[in-house]
Amino acid sequence: MALLKEKVTSIHHWTDKTFSFKTTRNMSFRFKNGEFAMIGLEIEGKPLLRAYSVVSPNHEDHLEFLSIKVPNGPLTSKLQNIKINDEVIVNSKPTGTLVCDYLLPGRNLFLFSTGTGLAPFMSIIRDPETYEKFEKIILTHTVRTSEELAYKELLSNLNKDEIYSEITKNNFTYFNTVTREKWRHEGRITDWIKKDKLWNEVGVEKFNANQDRVMICGSESMTFDLKKIFENLGSKEGSTKVQGGFVIEKAFAEK
Ligand SMILES: Cc1cc2nc3c(=O)[nH]c(=O)nc-3n(C[C@H](O)[C@H](O)[C@H](O)COP(=O)(O)OP(=O)(O)OC[C@H]3O[C@@H](n4cnc5c(N)ncnc54)[C@H](O)[C@@H]3O)c2cc1C
Repeated sequence: MALLKEKVTSIHHWTDKTFSFKTTRNMSFRFKNGEFAMIGLEIEGKPLLRAYSVVSPNHEDHLEFLSIKVPNGPLTSKLQNIKINDEVIVNSKPTGTLVCDYLLPGRNLFLFSTGTGLAPFMSIIRDPETYEKFEKIILTHTVRTSEELAYKELLSNLNKDEIYSEITKNNFTYFNTVTREKWRHEGRITDWIKKDKLWNEVGVEKFNANQDRVMICGSESMTFDLKKIFENLGSKEGSTKVQGGFVIEKAFAEK
């Protein structure tokens, strides 16, 4: 495995809990949109790496990542202090199950995320192939407070973007909910689905396991609950080996 050294080119702190940053990209680093790579910092002469989904689509000439700030987290307590021109290490072998190819062809594609689980979907929703494979793409993001809605402006305006409007052709829908304050849409995404309210709210036909496909990325409990919901609706899990109705990735490992 090769460890590539990339330079930080920009940093954006969303809140005291999350930030994102862009780096240079060695074009030998190739990935499928939705995949993650091991990235990190050299600490006391040794690489300290963690899994990170790539936010930027693979046609871009830079890399972008969205990161949590874990208090006392071995990597993120340091990574959150990075400055422009600092070096970030990127393992050259990305992987992951949140890839359109691992889903059966279908009608609508639902991308369900909580917290930093949004990251892999940021590349998928800007990939022209996603729109060739599916009629409508619905991305949901659930966080605790509205200020944690990273990329809200970009996502709300994707259909109007100079470049991406050509790709999305208005077939992209962004739906966010918050769980700990008053907001236009409140509560867990599981409740929106269980109460059969989501489909209407995002303007699509009710989920049909024969036609619709799902990707899930978030906390362990959220991925578990959604997996159960979609299995009960008749969908089958896909993998890197067998295409399915839904694919899952935990956004982080709970200890
Ligand atoms: C497949 C995969 C993809 C991942 N993609 C991302 C990503 O795109 N962005 C990202 O910030 N992290 C992502 N993570 C988590 C990441 O690998 C690290 O755990 C995180 O950066 C914290 O590193 P740390 O060394 O500071 O703390 P760690 O020792 O790794 O984590 C300490 C504890 O912090 C909590 N935690 C860790 N990550 C998160 C998170 N993202 N959200 C909420 N709580 C968390 C967990 O309870 C964990 O046990 C991913 C993990 C996996 C398995």
